[in-house]
Amino acid sequence: MADVIVVGAGNAAFAAAVAAREQGASVTMLERAPRELAGGNTRFTAGAMRFAYDGVDDLRALMPDLTDEEVAATDFGAYPEAQFLDDMGRVTDYRTDPDLCERLVRESRPTMLWMRRQGVRFAPIWGRQAFKVDGRFRFWGGLTVEAWAGGPGLVDAWTAIAAREGIEVLYGARAVSLLSDDAGVHGVRVKQGGRTRDLMAGAVALAAGGFQANTEWRTRYLGPGWDTAKVRGSRFNTGDGLRMALEIGAMPHGQWSGCHAVQWERNAPEFGDLAVGDGFQKHSYPWGVLINARGERFLDEGADFRNYTYARYGREVLRQPRQFAWQVFDAKVASLLRDEYRIRQVTKVTADTLEDLAARLEDVDAAQALATLTAFNAAVRTEVAFDPNVKDGRRTEGLAIPKSNWANPIDTPPFEAYAVTCGVTFTFGGLRIDRAGAVLDVDLAPIPGLYAAGEMVGGLFYENYPGGTGLMAGAVFGRLAGTSAGAMAGGRDGRSGA
Ligand SMILES: Cc1cc2nc3c(=O)[nH]c(=O)nc-3n(C[C@H](O)[C@H](O)[C@H](O)COP(=O)(O)OP(=O)(O)OC[C@H]3O[C@@H](n4cnc5c(N)ncnc54)[C@H](O)[C@@H]3O)c2cc1C
Repeated sequence: MADVIVVGAGNAAFAAAVAAREQGASVTMLERAPRELAGGNTRFTAGAMRFAYDGVDDLRALMPDLTDEEVAATDFGAYPEAQFLDDMGRVTDYRTDPDLCERLVRESRPTMLWMRRQGVRFAPIWGRQAFKVDGRFRFWGGLTVEAWAGGPGLVDAWTAIAAREGIEVLYGARAVSLLSDDAGVHGVRVKQGGRTRDLMAGAVALAAGGFQANTEWRTRYLGPGWDTAKVRGSRFNTGDGLRMALEIGAMPHGQWSGCHAVQWERNAPEFGDLAVGDGFQKHSYPWGVLINARGERFLDEGADFRNYTYARYGREVLRQPRQFAWQVFDAKVASLLRDEYRIRQVTKVTADTLEDLAARLEDVDAAQALATLTAFNAAVRTEVAFDPNVKDGRRTEGLAIPKSNWANPIDTPPFEAYAVTCGVTFTFGGLRIDRAGAVLDVDLAPIPGLYAAGEMVGGLFYENYPGGTGLMAGAVFGRLAGTSAGAMAGGRDGRSGA
């Protein structure tokens, strides 16, 4: 019997396990996936983490390897807590749960430093979140740091830390149900190697991800059409943790009809492929236009910085006829396209004239596509300067669907286009937790011995999401859940913050 059982082995689960261990508890982690596929969605990420910092000194505390030359060559800016709070409010239409949001923001920097103390290393995201202006890199979207070697590096780092701390990880061990009675949760029923057994524990922390890999639940909660969306990450996140908690009377929370979904290679496999990671995403759309099967544009590609639109534009593509679109660019912006456009696994066409390009857009009304591109080109206010680092206000005028920033006429060959569909990242609906990370029941009383973290926590995200917040939320609430579970199982009062 362990003091604490943690269900899952992604970022939130490891944060919970290590925090529980810090409280002196013995910890066993249950990972449904086999070892070579372990790590949940976390392993699929680039490892980008959004946290509040007041300037480069805060970053140097986190990344002591930064050299003076690197600091001199970069404008890291600042990302104060107030701005993080504001971004969370703005993108969720002010629906984000204020208690959860405030904890996420205020604990973001301390939690990054805690991870660093544990042995997780970080690096600036030079390639994806900064552009070079006048010889200096400048960060533009509040997202500055990624885990060393991305998601795989983060999982490897956590796995090594867990081993060092004497935390046991059981692979291929699927949690099936919670062992509970009126006094609370006492363990987990687990199936491993075809054998089902009961593992007892003083407390259980659930960090088993959302339900995005469950077609039936996607259709049930997100709605019609979501059954055919691609899953960007792990096939193991089928909502088991949520189901187990709901079965014993846990209170759902947050936007159960909502999810994070992006533009994703049209011919990508049904689930994520660890060999490609997040390479199927196509995030450079602010520099081009999107065309659907009718040959029409259907959204404002330049509404905001990509970090604040990418997570809801997958849903917009899903709503289009046959659930796909083509992203169209010209040679002027080719150098701005992210690395993911240069992988082998892309559906891409090129042409030297717009007429040829329109004809090559498979499944598209070519005549209408050409008319749309021609009208777009004529509507761009070219007298405003193009600047990818700021919302430059270089927009279209007179179109039913405007492009508000970074509008460039698509007039310089060669032209290229990439086919995308909707890729679902993770679901927003989850459980209601209290300030100690304890799961609340439908009467809003904590369920003794049950904690939750990561994608399983409901209430933070509605409709949209600021890039890099998933891992940060997993770390903050994982650490909270683990600290409380460890203190409770070790006899200390883990609910003092409730
Ligand atoms: C392609 C991609 C790129 C992304 N990029 C970023 C990024 O750069 N920055 C960012 O912040 N977020 C990113 N995200 C989102 C991020 O991955 C998640 O928000 C975060 O990893 C969630 O962590 P978690 O620990 O809650 O879940 P996960 O990491 O998904 O872990 C869930 C764990 O539970 C296990 N599990 C499930 N069911 C059971 C069961 N019954 N029994 C035992 N174990 C079970 C799974 O196998 C897994 O180990 C990205 C996601 C994807 C898919």
